[in-house]
Amino acid sequence: MSGDVSDRAADILIIGAGAAGLAAAVMAARQHPQYRILLLESTSRPASKLLLTGGGRCNLTNRAVTPHDFSGSSLHAIKKVLGAFTVPQTVEFFRSLDVSLHEEEHGKLFPASGNAHTIRNALLDRAESLGVRILTKQKVDCIRRKADGFDISTPQTFFTAPRILLATGGCSYPRTGSDGGGYDLARSCGHTIIPTMPALVPLALAGQFHRDLAGISHDVELTLLMGNKRIRTAGSLLWTHFGITGPAVLDISGHWLRGKLEGLQPVLTASLVPGENSASVEQWLLDVAADHPKMSLQKALSSRMPARLAAAVLVELKADGTTALAHLSKESRRHVHSALLAWPLPVVDSRGYDHAEVTAGGVPLKEVNLATMESRLCPGLFLAGEVLDVTGRVGGFNLQWAWSSAWVAARGLTMDNAALPQAEASPDPGRHH
Ligand SMILES: Cc1cc2nc3c(=O)[nH]c(=O)nc-3n(C[C@H](O)[C@H](O)[C@H](O)COP(=O)(O)OP(=O)(O)OC[C@H]3O[C@@H](n4cnc5c(N)ncnc54)[C@H](O)[C@@H]3O)c2cc1C
Repeated sequence: MSGDVSDRAADILIIGAGAAGLAAAVMAARQHPQYRILLLESTSRPASKLLLTGGGRCNLTNRAVTPHDFSGSSLHAIKKVLGAFTVPQTVEFFRSLDVSLHEEEHGKLFPASGNAHTIRNALLDRAESLGVRILTKQKVDCIRRKADGFDISTPQTFFTAPRILLATGGCSYPRTGSDGGGYDLARSCGHTIIPTMPALVPLALAGQFHRDLAGISHDVELTLLMGNKRIRTAGSLLWTHFGITGPAVLDISGHWLRGKLEGLQPVLTASLVPGENSASVEQWLLDVAADHPKMSLQKALSSRMPARLAAAVLVELKADGTTALAHLSKESRRHVHSALLAWPLPVVDSRGYDHAEVTAGGVPLKEVNLATMESRLCPGLFLAGEVLDVTGRVGGFNLQWAWSSAWVAARGLTMDNAALPQAEASPDPGRHH
């Protein structure tokens, strides 16, 4: 795969052999088998990030994908791209690569093999069998526009192509090759970059409370207050030696970071009794006390959450867990129940790009023709995947964005110039959160 670099001309040159770049190569090669398609990858191993996805099983999409599962550029723009290549089309695309999928809770779709290698190999094998040339250890460091296309340089050599696709990802998990250099390439072609920051990232907490709970996971509802905004997520939280992670935490992490960046002093709390409110928790404690007056407070809490968490909560509240419910004062009961509904999570920072599943920010969609993913600022340059300012929540949404934007880009890359739709005005070029 490190291949012959002597042939330096291509009809389509793709920078970055990750999810979006590989998918776009397969899609473009199928549409126009006669095109010489060249994929340049900076690392020695294409799509290594794909192997980490979904805990090594690759949660490649979701049964129900809507624009509301995303933040970043305008929802209208995101909807347009998702609508061009939908979940059923994604399922069919992978079926055509001989990959069948199976569905798990919350609509998450995985390869039936339960192994991310299946997705990576299917894309790589098909790209190669369609004649796509993949050159590894070719880190593009310069794109130069000329009258009839582009010169694309790596430290070793240079290539030429009339059309190029930038699919360099973001800057999360830089060891997989996506080190943020793609943003500089986009900038050099005239694009602006919405400031980037880690998203879907574990959060570090102050204090000691979390340390003894490391390894415990349970359902929560998280509430983030910042300024006059209130953002909620629900799902699983995992305590760790540094703080917290798990889907509910990852989904809210980007909002916390954005709030901090904007000086809004975000405050995060967890309901340890999801689905309850103040009145219902109080009534629950009264009902248990009526049915089991001798039951200890700790035992009652342990029926709603892991026993170690219940014990730690009571120690933190300086409440005597051995107290029989019948002897619990109204004041103590209220003290406990209000703490259960808004347990403080003193976030000090995120764990950074090294641990972030995605990067928020990037090239705004208003700078891209949504019918083709062609740059509005640099004709002949197309963009797909995470390099764009689109961030999905946990559940397969980010990879769906990679597939959908790759498909639109492949269509644009293979269109005759005359047939390229005119760039249209974006109805809502603003950001959405
Ligand atoms: C641990 C982890 C788990 C995840 N789990 C999921 C999940 O289950 N479901 C989901 O939907 N999403 C998941 N994601 C997010 C998902 O992996 C990304 O959204 C997706 O990979 C983005 O695809 P991409 O092709 O845009 O970028 P990438 O996959 O990052 O690929 C970019 C490629 O470009 C190459 N490159 C970069 N710069 C250059 C250059 N200058 N020259 C040449 N090549 C270059 C890189 O080496 C890389 O191979 C996860 C991410 C991580 C880190």
